[in-house]
Amino acid sequence: MALAPLNPKQPTNQPMTVRGDGSKTCTDTSLAVVFPDKILSFKLRQFCSIFTAEITAVQLALTNILNRPSGCYIIYIDSLSVLQSSNHQSHPLVFSVLELYSKLLFRGFTVLFCWIPSHVRIRENEGADKAAKSASAFYNMPVPACDLKKHIQNQLYFSWQTQWNLETQNKLHAVKPVIENWPSMRNRKSDTVLTRLCIGHTRLTHRYLLMGEQAPTCAHCGCSLPVIHFLVECPLFNSQRLRYFQTTSVTLLTLVGTYPHEKLFPFLKSIGFYSLI
Ligand SMILES: [Zn+2]
Repeated sequence: MALAPLNPKQPTNQPMTVRGDGSKTCTDTSLAVVFPDKILSFKLRQFCSIFTAEITAVQLALTNILNRPSGCYIIYIDSLSVLQSSNHQSHPLVFSVLELYSKLLFRGFTVLFCWIPSHVRIRENEGADKAAKSASAFYNMPVPACDLKKHIQNQLYFSWQTQWNLETQNKLHAVKPVIENWPSMRNRKSDTVLTRLCIGHTRLTHRYLLMGEQAPTCAHCGCSLPVIHFLVECPLFNSQRLRYFQTTSVTLLTLVGTYPHEKLFPFLKSIGFYSLI
């Protein structure tokens, strides 16, 4: 696609200017194409991406131009990613746009694309933006698979998170309330220790189940020995907490949360528990 300068030199036969714009808010996805004599504005399915809205606007503009007299047309659009999309042909509408563009060239049309950065406030472009936001008619078109896939992923994530929110008794929930990818440690051993601490199941605290032994108890307090006890609660290790965490008041979240405390392993080694995890 030919990219015209912002202020293209006007050819002798006056080109027709067309503004295209896509809009996406948390509730609506829409587009508008503004010709001097006509405004087309449509809603898309809410989960369509802004890229889909923008490129659909271009597709609609080209389709409309195809039914107009042959001549020069300049399509102004604020989406640079759409104008560069011929190099990234993974989106199905890119093929459609390229096909329409070739058809127009074959029929003797001249179509130029001009990028207007969205922060450049041009009255006509703001008009296209307003038209897109006020669209009420629904544009019936197949939803691109990439948008549908993203939508399904979001729905699955939402459903997963909703279910996880109810798992308040789960030990991992206390340190990982939000479902997301956590960075891995640099080596396998550290990663294993950290994971065991996060889920609250370590050799120290749970090997008795495999060995048919008595559940371990804290030698100092006489209480049971879950992970939270030796990491956070047991007063016997207050001096080590003060040394490594500069406080005796720590939480599981600060020690083994998204980013584990950098002194967590030195602390475990100092209380003699690291090798027992
Ligand atoms: Zn204790």
